[in-house]
Amino acid sequence: MTVYSGPVFEMAVNQFNVIANHLEIPMDERDRILMPKRAVTVSCPIHRDDGTVAVFEGYRVQHHLTMGPTKGGTRFAPTVDIGEVGALAIWMSWKCALAGLPYGGAKGGVNVDLSKLSKRELESLSRRYMQEMIPFVGPHTDVMAPDMGTNEQVMAWFMDTYSMYQGQTVTEIVTGKPVANGGTLGRREATGRGVAHLSKRVMKELNITPNQATAVVQGFGNVGSYAALELHHYGLKITGISDHTGALYDANGLDIPALMRHTSAHGSIAGFSNQLAFDPADVLTLPCTVLVPAALERVIDAKVAENLKCRILAEGANGPTTPDADLVLDKRRDEVFVIPDILCNSGGVVVSYFEWVQDLQQLFWEEEEVMRREYKLLDRAFDQMLLRASTDKISHRTAAMAIGVEKVRAAKNTRGLFP
Ligand code: NAD
Repeated sequence: MTVYSGPVFEMAVNQFNVIANHLEIPMDERDRILMPKRAVTVSCPIHRDDGTVAVFEGYRVQHHLTMGPTKGGTRFAPTVDIGEVGALAIWMSWKCALAGLPYGGAKGGVNVDLSKLSKRELESLSRRYMQEMIPFVGPHTDVMAPDMGTNEQVMAWFMDTYSMYQGQTVTEIVTGKPVANGGTLGRREATGRGVAHLSKRVMKELNITPNQATAVVQGFGNVGSYAALELHHYGLKITGISDHTGALYDANGLDIPALMRHTSAHGSIAGFSNQLAFDPADVLTLPCTVLVPAALERVIDAKVAENLKCRILAEGANGPTTPDADLVLDKRRDEVFVIPDILCNSGGVVVSYFEWVQDLQQLFWEEEEVMRREYKLLDRAFDQMLLRASTDKISHRTAAMAIGVEKVRAAKNTRGLFP
């Protein structure tokens, strides 16, 4: 029996089983590595603007605390449930281990439709969620960060709420804060920049010149917009973009800086251009050099995988590709170069780690320093993944996850089982 259920959790379990079989991990060791250490569910009551009270369910799952505190984002979305959060926490563990960070994975979230909340209601919900979590989190226990539906402002409210209860400012309780509140330069851009940097590295491996290449990006939030902007700076034409309101296509390349100005003023790509409107259902299968899914899980299933027309699949989102699709992509290894999510979007947690380190030391770095260190860690993990994939003749995802799982397993085995 387990509290975790649903298709996203099943996907994390299936992926783990592939790795555990590959690594020949004995059956009686598997649950200790896979199953999350803690799951917290809280009710968050808030006053609505009309004077009524509404209650929202919130979650936090901490996967393992073997290598240090847990680390992971907080998602505010109507799809959030304990199974989804559990899967995302597990993926965070493999991601942190692959990048060499001293963290276990965590994830949290609130089941809420943000379009139905005013800014004041969002602040109340953010503060109440953090207040409910205070007994379970801490700078050396579990450090939160943004994810879908949360941003720097929400992190500032989290930090303020935690600090008011401690009687002192504790910036290191969250990452992804505004720079004015102890955030780091380069965190806002970190995930998207990392996606673009790794895509450029693969283009180099494949002898593709960036200014003859194109990119398509699904999702134009934090990850998608900065990935698109950085790829645009590298010289690629960004021909397709979609978000929850629709899609845009321009064979000559969309004006990404203008689109970013539009979305920061209006909250979505809607209204940017009627002429360039396109069917969002077709975005993932557009011909392009680099495809960046940067929105939801499980958007690339076996059927979509058969029809992908990209040369590089750069997974900005967490879990965009289903295990069935992986089987298809395994057969298409020479046609589609996959940069798996736990590597591709790890620039976010890498720079979150830098933010935590800077907060603990109260010593802050220049943006160039942040970027240099981010790319160094990403390149190291990329090299390890490529070597492992070619040595073991396995897919990039299996290689990346095997490295992560192996590190967690080794740390657990050498610490031993308490008591
Ligand atoms: P966000 O809330 O800033 O943006 C999400 C984007 O997805 C929005 O543009 C939204 O319109 C779009 N979207 C939602 N439903 C869609 C649909 N049906 N079709 C197309 N687009 C849709 O979130 P984010 O922080 O950019 O996160 C996106 C993904 O990246 C998530 O999977 C998240 O877990 C992952 N991720 C985020 C970070 C980070 O640092 N923010 C780090 C690693 C991974």
